[in-house]
Amino acid sequence: MQTYDYIVVGAGSAGAVVANRLSANPNNKVLLLEAGHASHPWGRIPIGFAKLINNPKANWLYTAEPEANTNGRQLPVPRGKMLGGSSAINGMAFVRGQAQDFDTWAQMGNQGWSYEHVLPFFKRMERYEGGGDDTFRGREGPLRVTNPEPRDPLYAALIEAAGQVGIAHNPDYNGANQDGIAMSQATIASGRRMSTAACYLDPIRKRPNLHIETRALTRAVTLDGQRCTGVRYSVGGNERRAMATREVVICAGSINSPQLLELSGIGQPERLRALGIEVRQALPGVGENLRDHFAPRTRWRIGAKGYTFNDRARGLGLVAQALRYALTGKGMLGMVAAPMRAFVRSRDGLEAPDLLLGWVPMFTEPGRKGPKLSRESGVTCYAHPMRPESKGHIHIVSSDPTRQPAINFNFLSSPVDAALTVRAVRIARSVMTAPALGFLKVTEMAPGTSQTGDDEILDWVKRTAETTYHPVGTCKMGADGMAVVDSRLRVHGIAGLRVADASIMPTLTSGNTNAPSIMIGEKAADMVLQDAASGRG
Ligand SMILES: Cc1cc2nc3c(=O)[nH]c(=O)nc-3n(C[C@H](O)[C@H](O)[C@H](O)COP(=O)(O)OP(=O)(O)OC[C@H]3O[C@@H](n4cnc5c(N)ncnc54)[C@H](O)[C@@H]3O)c2cc1C
Repeated sequence: MQTYDYIVVGAGSAGAVVANRLSANPNNKVLLLEAGHASHPWGRIPIGFAKLINNPKANWLYTAEPEANTNGRQLPVPRGKMLGGSSAINGMAFVRGQAQDFDTWAQMGNQGWSYEHVLPFFKRMERYEGGGDDTFRGREGPLRVTNPEPRDPLYAALIEAAGQVGIAHNPDYNGANQDGIAMSQATIASGRRMSTAACYLDPIRKRPNLHIETRALTRAVTLDGQRCTGVRYSVGGNERRAMATREVVICAGSINSPQLLELSGIGQPERLRALGIEVRQALPGVGENLRDHFAPRTRWRIGAKGYTFNDRARGLGLVAQALRYALTGKGMLGMVAAPMRAFVRSRDGLEAPDLLLGWVPMFTEPGRKGPKLSRESGVTCYAHPMRPESKGHIHIVSSDPTRQPAINFNFLSSPVDAALTVRAVRIARSVMTAPALGFLKVTEMAPGTSQTGDDEILDWVKRTAETTYHPVGTCKMGADGMAVVDSRLRVHGIAGLRVADASIMPTLTSGNTNAPSIMIGEKAADMVLQDAASGRG
């Protein structure tokens, strides 16, 4: 059995950051355990997004339970399974969220998480290569963030169309305020995906005090009374143990972090006992408070030729795209999954946007190995509320760590979410039918022009919407009875154990969740080091 100062479980968006920052001090001996492989050939190329979304070699490929408001459909829940975690398979859009998101967390009693307190970590993590205001943007961090290639006629027209329905252009939605339409900022640089594996682990692989073990499935944390002492994990069927003299930090993501706590006897007593697991700490909130974005994809056929990738990447066009990528790192193979987005308000008088629209300049359809380009030319626009009220849960159904937990989203269980989703679809419609897009010869394919009433639109949402892959909240930070970790991310009632990843978010941030997960990793590492220095760790 090996002994370390710190053991980090999961090398994803947050875990890679924690391992990097903790091992920066050569006196800290750090073990980073990752269940997946070290890398995948498609993991560094942006278009690899489409190749990894269904790929068991890099993806846990979870499936949610059937739900009333998904018409019984079982939604796919992809999650990255390799160094970099979901940052190695995600859509690469870089969105921090709103100042109000973090101020809300602070108002819920989480000291140190207001926007003022998290901004330095957002700045520390990034090397933003666009313009913007240095008050808000970091220039020297490990994570390269760029603006996509200059606008082409389609994007320029979308910005004009949005303007015609009252949505202004905002060149930096990660700056002073989020409002408006913009090209998506991206964790892509020099044509390569900037996962946390690339930005936080590759540069430090040679640190002698950091041991990275891949294909290592952590099965449970080990406890001595109410103190965490280490982990049990398996590699290739062999069970191993490792000890942590200071702390274990669980960064296994919103599905696997609550799973790991439950497997370790930390969670809802009745549920654990029913599975034959000894209860070590009763925490009713473990696995609860699951939130995600439930997003219908509106579809728009484009009659004018040459504006979408359905036209541009067919036959010789695909060869041209491949050549372009090889020479410049740009084009369809080097782009962020949804290159344009708008943060909008469902009604006047709101303090900040509450809806997100995202545009993809093509139609895709399911193929044998993942999504493929359709023959028909079109634009897809997803539209959804950013801070849904509906809450679900994730719980183990077996004491076997290789069995996937049951995922219940409970989408649209809040009538507010249902109303806002319909509103978001209507706003997508208003942009796509604005005069500036007339030259594109746009036809609404979905939901379809016959779907005019709220009930009809909602029915279509239930039949077709999917998540945008942003599960959070299942090890909620807070001080109330359903909180799992405190504001320093320490598991309530257990010493030497923290959770640091998207699962600690008490509410969903206004946008995509990679940037806030990386921020959580940065802030967690800072707190671990501070607590060690002050003797509190
Ligand atoms: C397909 C997809 C597209 C997305 N698109 C975007 C986007 O464009 N922009 C954006 O901001 N966000 C996007 N997201 C969301 C974002 O990537 C995630 O919210 C974020 O990566 C979560 O970070 P995390 O650290 O919580 O978990 P993860 O990054 O998922 O890391 C968890 C890690 O723990 C490992 N692990 C789990 N269990 C164990 C275990 N028992 N033992 C050892 N290791 C374990 C996993 O293999 C994984 O590497 C997307 C996500 C997906 C899946």
